[in-house]
Amino acid sequence: MNEICPGTLYLVPTPIGNLEDMTERAVHVLQKADVIAAEDTRHTRILTERFGAPGKLVPYHEHNKEEAGPRIMAMLKAGKSVAQVSDAGMPVISDPGADLVQLALEENIPVVPLPGPNAALTALIASGLDARQFAFIGFLPKTGGKRKKLTDSIRSLPMTLIFYEAPHRIKETLSFLRKELGNRRAVAARELTKKFETFSRGTLESLLEQMKEEAPRGEYVLLVEGGGEDPAPPGITENDWKSRAAGLADEGMTPREISRKIAGETHLSRRDIYQFLIKNKK
Ligand code: SAM
Repeated sequence: MNEICPGTLYLVPTPIGNLEDMTERAVHVLQKADVIAAEDTRHTRILTERFGAPGKLVPYHEHNKEEAGPRIMAMLKAGKSVAQVSDAGMPVISDPGADLVQLALEENIPVVPLPGPNAALTALIASGLDARQFAFIGFLPKTGGKRKKLTDSIRSLPMTLIFYEAPHRIKETLSFLRKELGNRRAVAARELTKKFETFSRGTLESLLEQMKEEAPRGEYVLLVEGGGEDPAPPGITENDWKSRAAGLADEGMTPREISRKIAGETHLSRRDIYQFLIKNKK
């Protein structure tokens, strides 16, 4: 393993739930760095103790970054190597780090990113949604006006949308997205890399129904199908298409014909409609 360079800022991803996901290189950088700038030093100490990288922890988070940033820059300019970590996953991604990177670049300090755990991409690759193109949205703003402005700006993006959300807000977020984006296909990826990892696949509405029955617990990534060039009209509810599908079945159309027809009209998933018809076949 290469020695790490003095006067360099390393961005070090850490596990999102499974310590075995710590890469060999991440361990090496934490062991060798002069300083570890951590979002929560108590949290990161568990990791540094486990991987034999004791001491050298300094706090760097949203609430102290104005003072801690320049202090860390001074250490880097004095030739110290600094590893920056957040509580879990990639620094900078919905986590502290972006300002430190900016400061370092302004001072011509080398910034070296390490690849590693990230909840958004981990969820995406097993979601079954289109992973060729995607947009990472992260946490929605909490206030109504800003949230609405954001959803207005992403409604017609023809690519999978990836959101982060806290468990106590997920139902409200599903319902907001359902209203703003229409009843699109969606996947809730829960507790990734942990013992109770679960993928729930359905629509925004069916996920909401599911969560009404069982209170959401743990960490979630929410993925929503892209809008396409002609997004589904937000007015179509699950009841609307199900009763239309049932009506067409009564008229003698086959499940295949019905799913093709309704998917064409609404941009709902042909597979979801087909499966509904097969399950409810008289
Ligand atoms: N920097 C992290 C990353 O690279 O993924 C994200 C940190 S952000 C503060 C925390 C959010 O990431 C959580 O609210 C949740 O939406 C998502 N997340 C983190 N770990 C997760 C996990 N194990 N399973 C599902 N979602 C997770």
